[in-house]
Amino acid sequence: MALPMRKSRLFSNFVYFVKSYGKLSVSYYSTVRVRFAPSPTGMLHLGGLRTALFNYLFARSRDGKFILRIEDTDQTRIVPEAVQKLESVLQWAGLVPDESPSAGGSYGPYLQSQRLHLYRDSAEMLLKSGHCYHCFCTERRLELLRKEAARRGETPRYDNKCRHLTSQEVQEKMSQNVPYVLRFKYEPLESAWTDLVYGVMHEKSVGESLEGDFVVVKTDGYPTYHFANVVDDHFMKISHVLRGEEWTISTPKHLQMYKAFGWEPPLYAHLPLILNSDGTKLSKRQGDIKVEMFKEKNYDPNAILNYLTTVGRGFTGSTEGKTLEEMIDLFSLDTLTSHSARLQPEKLKHLNRKHLYRKFHSEQKQHIIEETKQLVHKHYTDRVTDSHVLESSYIERILDWALDHRISHLEDLLSKSLEYIWVYPDINKVKFLLSKNRKCKTIIQDTVNKLNLVETFEESMVKEVLMCYCKEEDLKMKQYMIMLRGCLSEQKEGPSIAEMMETLGKLETLKRLTSAANSLKY
Ligand code: GLU
Repeated sequence: MALPMRKSRLFSNFVYFVKSYGKLSVSYYSTVRVRFAPSPTGMLHLGGLRTALFNYLFARSRDGKFILRIEDTDQTRIVPEAVQKLESVLQWAGLVPDESPSAGGSYGPYLQSQRLHLYRDSAEMLLKSGHCYHCFCTERRLELLRKEAARRGETPRYDNKCRHLTSQEVQEKMSQNVPYVLRFKYEPLESAWTDLVYGVMHEKSVGESLEGDFVVVKTDGYPTYHFANVVDDHFMKISHVLRGEEWTISTPKHLQMYKAFGWEPPLYAHLPLILNSDGTKLSKRQGDIKVEMFKEKNYDPNAILNYLTTVGRGFTGSTEGKTLEEMIDLFSLDTLTSHSARLQPEKLKHLNRKHLYRKFHSEQKQHIIEETKQLVHKHYTDRVTDSHVLESSYIERILDWALDHRISHLEDLLSKSLEYIWVYPDINKVKFLLSKNRKCKTIIQDTVNKLNLVETFEESMVKEVLMCYCKEEDLKMKQYMIMLRGCLSEQKEGPSIAEMMETLGKLETLKRLTSAANSLKY
């Protein structure tokens, strides 16, 4: 979808490149192309959604392209249908990619498992230039190396044994069909690079790679994450890599490979962690961080995006209550710092109400009313005896009241305490409750007469009338309220009586009171 050009965008692009240049990190690419590159190993969680969102916002704020690439080279970890689910959840969140497995694009395919020829050709290039070699070490030998390192309390490290095989030795093993991997000859990265969030970085600052020559192509012929990631970013002309902070440590490896290929690397921006409110990692609580779960619970996707962005930085103003489209203008990678941010689950409902309120007060009002009607109809079916509660004007009034402070989801309107809004109380139960008080009929009839005179049927006015009557007749307030509640609702709890009356409206209130009075003998 083509978005209208933003006034400030050209200028902010210019400022951005000048700033980046100031940090010695000007992009080689003139067009912004960013990618979200998840592995299809399960459901998308909040951390992944945040990465996708920042990539989307970065692309949209710079007239760039947002690409979805599926990194499925680890065949052992693939979960069936994960790709479709990922695409559909991104769609739900509004983060629709310009290029993706389902949308296609000029740089596809967008599933790594369909790009194997590209990795084979690229590995061949590195073999020819001497940056890669065949390694025939058995899993048993590697396991021994790992155990020895563990005994010495060191990081496991490949000892680069096969680096020194002669081409004749390699040929021999190949002709005997000895399984092999391809390893990259790793040399410590001497030069620094600039991360757009973390600033100037050195290999030492990210935790020097101690693992020795690393694998780029596995025995099954599939590339490793590192290799495929670099090859794809290059061939897909990715200008900026915005990804989670946990990948910072991989960057030196990636840069080494770019150097070996003689390719220009993209600019890197690692996004600081978002944590649970208690400071623990998001992955520790899988249950409540799956995006699918928020979708199932009928959250507004914008509320979830706000949830992720009202903590931490990256914006020039508050994103609370803002839509995805509005967030584009507020997005600024320059304001992002390396501090991790903690989610605030207690704000989630509040954020959802803000968006529901916005929708209700927009051209989507009819849609919200219709949705409520369906919900009520489905939930109460034949318990809704009075069809006027399903009329649009009634529902509209209820929503107007409820969205002000009562509910954060439309489903909240189906809670027990609000049942009175939709369901007429059972007259036999009302009778039973009221028959305990001998003066009930008169009191209710008097109340009807008093309320009939109220013109503006609002909570405060209604309350005043009820209080006055209670005083005049010297009634016990508590008992009087229980009596009125019984006429209006089957539930013992809920909003205050005056508030209930306001929500029901004058006609409905008087109707319920009158019918209760009529059911009594005295
Ligand atoms: N496949 C990696 C992941 O699952 C992508 C990391 C990157 O963006 O380079 O997050």
